[in-house]
Amino acid sequence: MKKYSYKDLSADDLNLLCQRPKMDFRSIFGQVEPIIEKVEREGDAGINYYNQKFDGAAPDPIVINPQQKKVSLDSEIKQALDTAFDNIYRFHEAQLPAPLEVETMPGVQCKRVARPIERVGLYIPGGTAILPSTLMMLGIPAMLAGCSTIVVATPPKSDGSVADEILYLAKKIGATHLLKAGGAQAVAGMALGTESVPKVDKILGPGNQYVTVAKMMLQNSEAQIAIDMPAGPSEVLVIADGTANPAFVAADLLSQAEHGEDSQVVLVATNDFDLNICLQAIEHQLTELPRQEIARKSIEQSFSVTVNNLDEALDFSNRYAPEHLILQCQNPELYEDQIMNAGSVFLGKWTPESAGDYASGTNHTLPTYGYARMFSGVSVDSFLKQITMQQITANGLKNVGPVIEKLAELEELEAHKNAVSIRLKEIKKNI
Ligand code: NAD
Repeated sequence: MKKYSYKDLSADDLNLLCQRPKMDFRSIFGQVEPIIEKVEREGDAGINYYNQKFDGAAPDPIVINPQQKKVSLDSEIKQALDTAFDNIYRFHEAQLPAPLEVETMPGVQCKRVARPIERVGLYIPGGTAILPSTLMMLGIPAMLAGCSTIVVATPPKSDGSVADEILYLAKKIGATHLLKAGGAQAVAGMALGTESVPKVDKILGPGNQYVTVAKMMLQNSEAQIAIDMPAGPSEVLVIADGTANPAFVAADLLSQAEHGEDSQVVLVATNDFDLNICLQAIEHQLTELPRQEIARKSIEQSFSVTVNNLDEALDFSNRYAPEHLILQCQNPELYEDQIMNAGSVFLGKWTPESAGDYASGTNHTLPTYGYARMFSGVSVDSFLKQITMQQITANGLKNVGPVIEKLAELEELEAHKNAVSIRLKEIKKNI
């Protein structure tokens, strides 16, 4: 872990430290393009060609209706999934928007109503591990929003099946289709539609670089799809003061580091935090991790910044805009108002990031790569669009009409003006 001191860093140094490693997608574009083209040309057969090539299985059929499948789970796993499901459901249910109605002038009524995005595709990564938690994070808000077609896509296992946990949750969130495919071929299938995969309007979910690039390419194509957000490697920034437990800090840094070698891990600590003890704890805990190799590489590329106080720490964090921000300091809630840029925040020593990753209720699909400056994590809103409506009475048009006429005149849009004038004349005639 490289060590820096905040007081020695110039503005340029700070900007440089906050930059993420460059993502070079150029070579990936070339690999993903033929996949999209083949799926467009050949539909299901195109998807299965790449299923066979990359995942060693060509499931037939590639799409199943999860609601018609029976699934049995280990009771402890089922209980853990159900409890996490309930917490995530509860937190997301509270996000459903209330109707909004405002009379802006007497007789001028404006409304905003939410409607579900009807057809959505949820990508659940499955190349290296099964990720039922991601299915809950995407599926529960989709279900609450009322999406009518929910396609869940995940890579097939070598025998052509998908994990029981995924099947169980796909049923529970009301998925209409389960597409046994991963990578760019799954994204292309959902964006373009095939014989058995319905075309969707929005694709959400994390994935490797092939998934990310396919989402980016198809978003900018005639497929007319929206995506959730740009994606980069996962990241955490931990702020620690002298009251923080160095072993807890080490555990939080490692829980991020084990995601991947490119995971971004940052520690911002006040002078009175015992950095050396923390580094020793990292070494000690590393040796006990099955994903030690991966975590070690990520930690080697990580850095710490020593600050004089928590105001400096928050200044650095706001510049960095981390996906996950952990505050292990005294009275962390006092600093809430100072947090401007972060995907999800974990306050206090008893609040590990893992809680939000799995089961406390908040969503774990979050903006990375500094995009927390302008993007939010997935929520019920991600599955809704807002439609505005208005109704104006004759009296209302008398109030607002002259304003419209004047502005239309200013912009030289005579037909716009006339649409009001013709009505105002009619109103005058009838008085
Ligand atoms: P994945 O499902 O994203 O990708 C697997 C698929 O990649 C395979 O099915 C295959 O079709 C395709 N593929 C493999 N090699 C290919 C090649 N050479 N050319 C074209 N396609 C190829 O699973 P993964 O690979 O395990 O990646 C999961 C990613 O999701 C990781 O980067 C992880 O960090 C990320 N993730 C992020 C979050 C988050 O919320 N930020 C959560 C979970 C996972």
